[in-house]
Amino acid sequence: MSWSTERLTRLMRGAVEFSVTHVESGGLPFVGVVTDEIEYVSEYGVNEVRETGDLTAHAEIVAMRGTMRQRGLTNLDGASLLATGEPCGLCYRFAIRHGIGRVYPGHSPGGDLVTVS
Ligand SMILES: [Zn+2]
Repeated sequence: MSWSTERLTRLMRGAVEFSVTHVESGGLPFVGVVTDEIEYVSEYGVNEVRETGDLTAHAEIVAMRGTMRQRGLTNLDGASLLATGEPCGLCYRFAIRHGIGRVYPGHSPGGDLVTVS
């Protein structure tokens, strides 16, 4: 297991643990995290559709938008997205549109890394 794999595994475990806590407080189990695979780790994005009425406020998109807003970016070139579930088509499309290079689903039918670029 490489350093990067260890780091990604640790980040995913943190996202899943956060997801469990979020569900226990009434939220949905989806959590998104953006990382640059070196040092940057975003805040956890959670589904905010119910709270905001924004039908695009999926956990993954919330994490990507939050990263761009906090870092003053218009894209996320080369960054990676970790998601506790298999992202939907909208989230994949948003990731591609904004330069995400890799998506790491915590759970997917094949259980594999998805390269989106
Ligand atoms: Zn989605």
